[in-house]
Amino acid sequence: MKPRIYYTKPSITELEVGYATDAARNGWGERCYEYIGKFEEAFKAHLGVQYAIATSSCTGALHIGMAALGIGPGDEVILADTNWIATAAPIVHLGAKPVFVDILPDSWCIDPELAEAAITPRTKAIIAVHLYGNLCEMDRLLAIGEKNGIPVIEDAAEAIGSIYYGKRAGSMGKFGSFSFHGTKTLTTGEGGMFVTNDAELYETVLTLSNHGRARGQIKQFWPDMVGFKYKMSNIQAAIGCAQLERIDELVNRKREILNYYREHLENLGILGMNPEPEGTINGAWMPTVIFKKETKITTEKLQNIFQRENIDARVFFHPLSSLPMFESPTVNINAGDIPHRAINLPSYHDLSFDEQKTVANLILSLSNES
Ligand SMILES: *Cc1c(COP(=O)(O)O)cnc(C)c1O
Repeated sequence: MKPRIYYTKPSITELEVGYATDAARNGWGERCYEYIGKFEEAFKAHLGVQYAIATSSCTGALHIGMAALGIGPGDEVILADTNWIATAAPIVHLGAKPVFVDILPDSWCIDPELAEAAITPRTKAIIAVHLYGNLCEMDRLLAIGEKNGIPVIEDAAEAIGSIYYGKRAGSMGKFGSFSFHGTKTLTTGEGGMFVTNDAELYETVLTLSNHGRARGQIKQFWPDMVGFKYKMSNIQAAIGCAQLERIDELVNRKREILNYYREHLENLGILGMNPEPEGTINGAWMPTVIFKKETKITTEKLQNIFQRENIDARVFFHPLSSLPMFESPTVNINAGDIPHRAINLPSYHDLSFDEQKTVANLILSLSNES
């Protein structure tokens, strides 16, 4: 059996090990928040935002952010049908309803026109999920939000390193959320970040994230409201500090991998890949190929040949509306169709040239067949 080629794996160096060791050895007592503070400061600087709160996950960041916006029972939140359930779950936990709309065929992100058409008097937010590092059409979404008085939230879990006309993904909406799960470009094992430029929203989220204890509250053990406990640990933040010092290296390597696949596969004319429209930079979290319909190459076939070569074959997200716990009054054509002829390609930082060539050649061999 050939050695397995993984689709994703963190890049951990002596820097991460050193900081984590320091946090484990010394980061207690009055120093117990030191790396958390440093990580938040560095993340703010990286993203170009005013406020950041480290969280235990992106799901948690979305949950407290949407709670702070007052989203609750009877409300609706619009998002793309193509996504991991993590973005939808907090909406449900708040008692609100996720409204799934179709994606654009080229970016696989929310179709702004359909998002606008889905607005009702109960709509409380639109979530822009930058899928696989591909950017949503933020100008249009923000204009729609402004026109209708609805905040646009950015789920940038997959989009660290992605830039939209000079602005980083996650920095443009009412608030943004990030994930540092072990599969993501920057990792802390588990972890996330809430970011915003809105001072009032920041204060509310800060209070909510600390079990409802307001910053100025001097009475001990005195919560001002029922909040959440979605904090990041100092040891995780230490790893995050090291990863953030290496962020350009981490993103550049991801982009290098995507570009290699692009150069070797895109001009075959049988598939589409993560786009990078003019004026934008794709952080390239997850290189993905979507075969054209007429090739008749299916996801099942791709999974089989990848499995044969001992290569991870991660499938394109199922439409959330197809899951049993959600109702779907409409059929979202692109979200329903694309997963049948698509696959994510291995892209971890330490992927060797030979491994990448093996993956590319496998796809090339299919093009000869079709
Ligand atoms: C990974 C991911 C999440 C969830 O992140 P966690 O940190 O695991 O909560 C949310 N949204 C998107 C788009 C993701 O890819």
